Amino acid sequence: MSSKIDKIISGLDTRGFSQALASASATAHVSAFTVDHPPSTRVVYPHSVGFSDFLGNTATVTHLREGVRAGRLPHSLILAGPAGAGKYTLALMLSKVANCLQPEESNGLPDFCGRCSNCVRIGAAVNLEELVAEAVAAREDMRDTDKRETRIIVQTHPDVIVIPPDPPQLMIKLGQVKQAIHAAYYRPPVEAKRAFTIFTSSAFMKEAANSLLKLLEEPPEHTSLVLLTENPQELLPTIRSRAVVHRLGPLPAIQVDALLAKRRPELKPRDRALAARLAEGAVGRALTIDLDKYLTSRRDALVILRGAIQERDFTQLFQATETYRAGADGQEKTLSLLRALSSLLEDLLLTVAGTPALIRNLDLEAELGKLSAGLSVEWIDAAVRAATQVEQGMRRNLLRSLSLDAMALSLDRG
Ligand SMILES: [Zn+2]
Repeated sequence: MSSKIDKIISGLDTRGFSQALASASATAHVSAFTVDHPPSTRVVYPHSVGFSDFLGNTATVTHLREGVRAGRLPHSLILAGPAGAGKYTLALMLSKVANCLQPEESNGLPDFCGRCSNCVRIGAAVNLEELVAEAVAAREDMRDTDKRETRIIVQTHPDVIVIPPDPPQLMIKLGQVKQAIHAAYYRPPVEAKRAFTIFTSSAFMKEAANSLLKLLEEPPEHTSLVLLTENPQELLPTIRSRAVVHRLGPLPAIQVDALLAKRRPELKPRDRALAARLAEGAVGRALTIDLDKYLTSRRDALVILRGAIQERDFTQLFQATETYRAGADGQEKTLSLLRALSSLLEDLLLTVAGTPALIRNLDLEAELGKLSAGLSVEWIDAAVRAATQVEQGMRRNLLRSLSLDAMALSLDRG
């Protein structure tokens, strides 16, 4: 993608802010502008020109479009759903339909053209991970003093602000919320009818959440705030109660499978079925899942499970964790291993419960059947908890391999 980055360093004027914000320090932000090219081809909806490309969750999408038609899109909206369910795609589509310069209709409801200058610029924000990486790289080039004060914001349209969790902590920070507040109260939309601020995560630093609450208490007239979350419970109850919550549910595996047949024709039917099950109804995940990587992690996860259940022998596990210890990508590999292990454990649970038809690792049905013989639900439960603990431990930066070894030992107690 040939995008250019404009670094915008703007001291944020705190005059006129409400009391709660007055004491907060001034800040600056990086904006990644990608206005000089057509809408990028996001893997999720490569030919996105309208709502017909949004798969599933028809009732929710219809409801929101009816709101647009009636001119009553909520000031504060929470879109909840698993990763890959289409929350960000839908947030961008709403920003487009509210601001399209050549609005269209489909199924009797408002739709967007995908071609006008507003649609094109909003659509340019579609490859979020890439834009965030560019903005982070731009920040890295700054002087240390500026770097500390600089928050990541993606803005491909002047009136549509996307606020991602700020690395390395991957939390939304006070400086970012202050940018949203500044825009909402002091910079009415110039080229849009309705401004949008999209928070792509519900992981807020405490002060950031409190500031957001102030914004929700006095919603600005021309702005819609959209909060994306995998788990609404992560948000302050006071934030939740001031927003309209919409959930994006998972799609049935058979529907995801049919989609994969069209969009990822290179997958063999067996791999497609596996990808559809692993995606747990999330379209984005199904389309982007790296099956080779998953199968590699799953092979190691099976070694752990076999060792724990059948052989009472951890030699192979220690060898595996030893290789994970080395290398910069150790953390990612370990997380991938844990996810594979969790999916196997959940399948074991389904097998023990007598519902093997629901397992995700379809190709391992026979092996899972053997492994589950004599296992109790309690043992599997304990193993799932151990896996969760390792993951939490990694977040707290414990030694990865140490906690993996500890987990293997705790499995042994079963
Ligand atoms: Zn348009």
